Amino acid sequence: MDGTAVLREVSDFIERPKTMTIGGAQVEAASGESFEVRDPSTGSVLTEVPRGGHDDVDRAVAAARAAFEDRRWTGLRPGKQADILQRVGELIKKHSVELAQIESLDAGKPLKLSSGEIWAAGEAFRYYSGWPTKAYGETNPAGDDAFVYTLREPVGVCGGIIPWNFPLIMAAWKIAPALAFGNTVVLKPAEQTSLTALRLGELCLEAGVPEGVVNVVTGFGDEAGQALAQHEDIDKISFTGSTEVGRKILHASESNLKRVTLELGGKSPNIVFADADMRRAAKGSMLGVFLNSGQICTAGTRILVESSIHDQFVESLVEATEKMKVGPALDDATSMGPVISKEQLDVVTGYIEIGRAEGASVATGGGRLEEMGDGYFVQPTVMTGVRNSMRLAQEEIFGPVAAVIEVGDAEEAVAVANDSIYGLAAAVWTNDLSKAHRVARGIRAGTVWVNSSGLYDPGVSYGGYKQSGFGRELGVHSMDAYTEIKSVWVNLK
Ligand code: ADP
Ligand code: MG
Repeated sequence: MDGTAVLREVSDFIERPKTMTIGGAQVEAASGESFEVRDPSTGSVLTEVPRGGHDDVDRAVAAARAAFEDRRWTGLRPGKQADILQRVGELIKKHSVELAQIESLDAGKPLKLSSGEIWAAGEAFRYYSGWPTKAYGETNPAGDDAFVYTLREPVGVCGGIIPWNFPLIMAAWKIAPALAFGNTVVLKPAEQTSLTALRLGELCLEAGVPEGVVNVVTGFGDEAGQALAQHEDIDKISFTGSTEVGRKILHASESNLKRVTLELGGKSPNIVFADADMRRAAKGSMLGVFLNSGQICTAGTRILVESSIHDQFVESLVEATEKMKVGPALDDATSMGPVISKEQLDVVTGYIEIGRAEGASVATGGGRLEEMGDGYFVQPTVMTGVRNSMRLAQEEIFGPVAAVIEVGDAEEAVAVANDSIYGLAAAVWTNDLSKAHRVARGIRAGTVWVNSSGLYDPGVSYGGYKQSGFGRELGVHSMDAYTEIKSVWVNLK
């Protein structure tokens, strides 16, 4: 294997005892406990991180509350806030090789993908550094006797709970907008992938984010996560993860009716029409489902293909899929790494068996990659003969499994696309301009890609319809998620 040499900073970081950032200090869990994290490429223990619990969440929330109340961040000149956010982005860039290697070891992501992820995390901070200076309020029509204006104020103390598929991007998508609109933050990364978030906590301090404004608590979902979601002194929770846990977050928010935004699961349709550019569509559909080993909320896992080109398209898709080089994250040749954990490996291979039992056929792949030792490797798998009513087509797998479904025409394609509890994203491949727009309009999902898939930009809002969640991250609409609106009436009589 042609492995990338691990940087000295990376091995030092992996070896040193991990600490959480709470109130500007580097601390262990109050209990003194930690838990093991594994390298998905080998299945072996990589390091340990603090097992944050109730007490740690309490400490972090108190720190964030104190920082919010004394306005050490909120009250800064917008230009100063912009400088600091910009500086976080610069520090992420400066440490990008180190962060990418840590992410690859921790999440099993091929280095090229980790590098892209780190870049995008920095870009989110650079994008949001533009907002403090531009988040204007309004004046309102109210007649001659009154002057009414609108203040956009921060919501307060924001909790961010994030998944393991894009650890640093997710952390940046929670912290950067919260800060841009004057809030303070407590972030809980996923227990499988805490490492880059811990580094980000340190880098925020180094960049000049005042103490207590960004806090990072590591730990398990039903301990630290639940404590955060239930906390009565948290004003808002921004959650990204499974629909099942999203429901729990919503229940927990009852305690104080905190604001909640949820970015949840998906089973995104990827529709290929007969008039599409076949090579582009095959390659794009393939990447749309197998990038990051299929562990992307928006992954185009339901591939809807127009009947007249079905067999030819499946052939191209299988050919593109078989070119994927599955291997360890730090191997330069790898284009697809392992899945995140043994549990996830069992879930994914379990779904392949469910699909077989439901009558779908395996066109390529079909199970665990046994020759890869104890790493959590699954073959990129294409299943054909899938009906949309099968579990294989209805349930989110979060692994490298594509379900190919034959459809007759555009109308049927839209109907099948919408026959899902989810509505996160969709892709449409066609060279017919009006069909592309018609289908984009017909699909009930928060993002539609035409002749592309998996594109993001911090300026473009992102989120779900239906059980894929509510609220929008990124872009101008993220302002609504992180601000309250206050109307001030001044009597002019
Ligand atoms: P996935 O299924 O992709 O692992 P999850 O929805 O299970 O995603 O987890 C996403 C995040 O939610 C993780 O940080 C996890 O620790 C956290 N989490 C899990 N259960 C709970 C819970 N009951 N309350 C709050 N957070 C939770
Ligand atoms: Mg889970």
